[in-house]
Amino acid sequence: MQREIDRLRREEFDLLVIGGGIVGCGIARDAALRGLSVALVEKDDFAAGTSSRSSKLVHGGIRYLEHGEIGLVREACLERHTLLRIAPHLVRPLPFLMPIRAGGPHGRLAVKVGMVLYDLLASFRNVAPHRMLSRDAAIAAQPALRSEGLRGAALFWDAQMDDARLCLENAIAAADAGAVVANHVEVVALERTNGRVVGASCRDRVAGDTFVVRATRVVNATGPWSDRLRRLESDSAPRILRPSRGAHVLVDRPAPPQALLLRAQKDGRVLFLMPWDGRTLVGTTDVDDAGDPDLVRATDAEVDSLLADASTALTGEPLARRDVLATFAGQRPLVASGASGTVETSRRDHVEVGPGGMITVVGGKYTTYRLMAERVVDRFARGCRTARVALPGGGPIDVAAAERELCDRSGFSRDASHRIVARFGSRYVDVARLANEDASWVEPLCPHTAATGGEVVFAVREEMALTPADIAVRRLGLHLTACGGRDAEPRIAAILARTLGRDAASPV
Ligand SMILES: Cc1cc2nc3c(=O)[nH]c(=O)nc-3n(C[C@H](O)[C@H](O)[C@H](O)COP(=O)(O)OP(=O)(O)OC[C@H]3O[C@@H](n4cnc5c(N)ncnc54)[C@H](O)[C@@H]3O)c2cc1C
Repeated sequence: MQREIDRLRREEFDLLVIGGGIVGCGIARDAALRGLSVALVEKDDFAAGTSSRSSKLVHGGIRYLEHGEIGLVREACLERHTLLRIAPHLVRPLPFLMPIRAGGPHGRLAVKVGMVLYDLLASFRNVAPHRMLSRDAAIAAQPALRSEGLRGAALFWDAQMDDARLCLENAIAAADAGAVVANHVEVVALERTNGRVVGASCRDRVAGDTFVVRATRVVNATGPWSDRLRRLESDSAPRILRPSRGAHVLVDRPAPPQALLLRAQKDGRVLFLMPWDGRTLVGTTDVDDAGDPDLVRATDAEVDSLLADASTALTGEPLARRDVLATFAGQRPLVASGASGTVETSRRDHVEVGPGGMITVVGGKYTTYRLMAERVVDRFARGCRTARVALPGGGPIDVAAAERELCDRSGFSRDASHRIVARFGSRYVDVARLANEDASWVEPLCPHTAATGGEVVFAVREEMALTPADIAVRRLGLHLTACGGRDAEPRIAAILARTLGRDAASPV
């Protein structure tokens, strides 16, 4: 995937997509696969917004059953099935344990009914049907579970994903299908002819210059930034968003054998404890946040409340700040609905056509992005293929043989080989090819990760990474390791400079 700014300047497109989060990249892939000429511009990096800050679950959303959102849960369950099929390297089945406690919001019978409905809504095509566990069986399954008041648990299945890489693979798939995609290009104004939006004025944040991209149709897929883009179309556009902030903490506790679905003490909202690269990821909060989406961070109060809530479910010492390895937060681009709080605000998506014809798509969930994209592109083209075509690394692969090949032929360690196959799927051969160019590229970047220099070179040459954060956070996921990626920074900077052919000290 190459950054072809010249083509953006020169060509006239059927469709310009603004925003390289999962929704924008999903739309670009869908439209390009239907044969449309497509351009996509992203002001920062692919997935730099909310799409790298989610709970990383591809899930039916069992909690939405409480709000009666049967249709939404049904759609999400079916999309989970589709994503497990087209991206098996990035979306993996994840077992969940939902403890049932004395005095909890739901008794055993209510939980059982909810679980049967959840299986039904997936048309029994989930990884496996749920099971109800006795108290002893729950503790045997999850020895760290606090036993006081425990009455049993439900064991059910959803899936976990690498959100930033799944978004990136949609961008790559769009480019492979002919789309011209570019990160670090910001839309600063809209172009019009006779009042109709026919393109956008864009600033290349790398070169610093401005140019116009022309297109018959323009889609605004800028998530939490959507209202800003709508105001470029019409000064008087009313707000449609009610953004909500969600924070996560990665704690230095061994990964739980199954993810845990819990209730927060204060507001009863659902909370997850999930395995992430051998450690435990805790999330999330849900707070109204109309602040600048570029500046969203986890607050101290959110970190403390997540630690306190997680501690109530586990045996042993309560979690404290010293256990925190990393934090991250994002804004949910929810559509204002008049609900009293963001927890009750629907996760449904919303499509709106502005006075100049710009199509804005917001809301929804990561899990349902493919369907959101399908609905948008259906407005002007036929023949969606995205549920049938695998994402770039999603081709058939013999995992054990691939890992052996990386170890024996390319010289990667066992851990690095496992990591490469898990992240790149059937594209592992492209990463392996690089190892032959420089023997040092098979070495780990720092003691806290199995990621190698080869992944950095691949990110720069093939995946349009331009800055250290593009590499460390979105391509390699090093911000969620014990050192937060800091120990790998010097090697990343050196390889980036060498690969881009410029001085390591020059700003990008
Ligand atoms: C804490 C949290 C947890 C979540 N957990 C889950 C989960 O587990 N499962 C699930 O299914 N969903 C989850 N979600 C929801 C999901 O993450 C979002 O619905 C989804 O990522 C939104 O994607 P998007 O493409 O609409 O927005 P974004 O990912 O924010 O993308 C919008 C992009 O537009 C770009 N942009 C903005 N302005 C411009 C401009 N002027 N020019 C060019 N580009 C621009 C931004 O840089 C950004 O990259 C979660 C959300 C949050 C906040």
